[in-house]
Amino acid sequence: MDKVSLATLAVHAGERLSVPDYTPISTPIHHAVTYIYDDMHTLDAVFAGKRPGYVYSRFANPTVTALEEAVAHMEGTESAVACASGMAAVHLALLAAGATAGKAVLMAQDLYGGTYSLLTQIFPTQGVHVHSVDMTDLGAVSQAIAETKPIALFVETISNPLLKVVDIPALAKLAHDGGAQLIVDNTFATPCLYRPALNGADYVVYSATKYLSGHGDAMGGLVAASAERCQAIREKRKLLGSILGPNEAWLILRGLKTLVLRMRQHSQNANLVAHFLQSHPRISQVFYPSLPTHPQFALSRRLFPCNLFGGMVSFRIKGADQEKVFRFMDALRVIVPATSLGDVYSLVLYPAHSSHRWLSDEEKQRQGITPDLVRLSVGIEEAQDIIADLAQALDAIGE
Ligand code: PLP
Repeated sequence: MDKVSLATLAVHAGERLSVPDYTPISTPIHHAVTYIYDDMHTLDAVFAGKRPGYVYSRFANPTVTALEEAVAHMEGTESAVACASGMAAVHLALLAAGATAGKAVLMAQDLYGGTYSLLTQIFPTQGVHVHSVDMTDLGAVSQAIAETKPIALFVETISNPLLKVVDIPALAKLAHDGGAQLIVDNTFATPCLYRPALNGADYVVYSATKYLSGHGDAMGGLVAASAERCQAIREKRKLLGSILGPNEAWLILRGLKTLVLRMRQHSQNANLVAHFLQSHPRISQVFYPSLPTHPQFALSRRLFPCNLFGGMVSFRIKGADQEKVFRFMDALRVIVPATSLGDVYSLVLYPAHSSHRWLSDEEKQRQGITPDLVRLSVGIEEAQDIIADLAQALDAIGE
């Protein structure tokens, strides 16, 4: 290196130092896109999968692997695959489950709007038959499986935005008896409330953009499943180019460390907020799984034995139209009107215009996405400050 020009030194000096014999206490962010080995035969063996290693960051990356290992351990699965977004994770899980031309998928009626649109707008153009059913009605699910013969059922443990809770073990049994696999989007519940793979689910999907990361600064997704299923997903991820970036992987890995602490606080705060809203004269309906009025109250107690029910609360403002709800949202001072959930900040969203904006009016009506509906992601601030903010904003909207 000494005999080369300054331009060459500027490019190569300091790079590719010998591998150290010490281990950093936290995972480094590996920005390198490609990797070198002692000789070409070794590189060839890594390419062939005959020895471990990395060749190209679209295939795998050490920081991403660290996140995948962490999530697999927390989820109780053999493996996990990290993707560029929650939607990428949903897409890959469906592909891996066999959603191809001529096959059918049975989805829950209540789903995040993006997932609903992916399933009703993109997959049908690829020849996939998509049917929907109320997944809280096991009789209807059983009948729909017999009629449509799906290769997979797709559900959310706690649905977005009306917080319906589904019986994962029962759905897994119905799916498996009918020759189908069960894909569960566990974004709202997180492994702190529930671990679907330990209860029969074949694929667990996350928008890691939400609670797993938790700070509103990283977009990502994960699928947790058996080693074999994850290997199939990795092959698809490689060709679709949907791997997570190393910076995001690092941020989400960092977020995971406080997930349990945050979920405890989110859940405690949300429980207090839900009770406050339920007693407020300007609120006509509150959706939160710990409330005795919740349609799956008993099931929620059974599924979530830690007495944590998550940070999401939805509610209807009595007689409100869009203008009135907007006045309420504009009047908030602590709670932020922004399009996401699961952050340390309390966030409020108008489902009809954001998470479920692209649904037809008829579909919104059927899913209960009415003009008076508000979705609140309760943060980890002091509960009394969140409640006081809601109280003053409800006062501000007038009769
Ligand atoms: N699943 C659920 C339940 C969601 O709420 C969202 C987004 O809000 C997604 C999946 C999609 O995640 P992302 O925005 O990270 O693609």
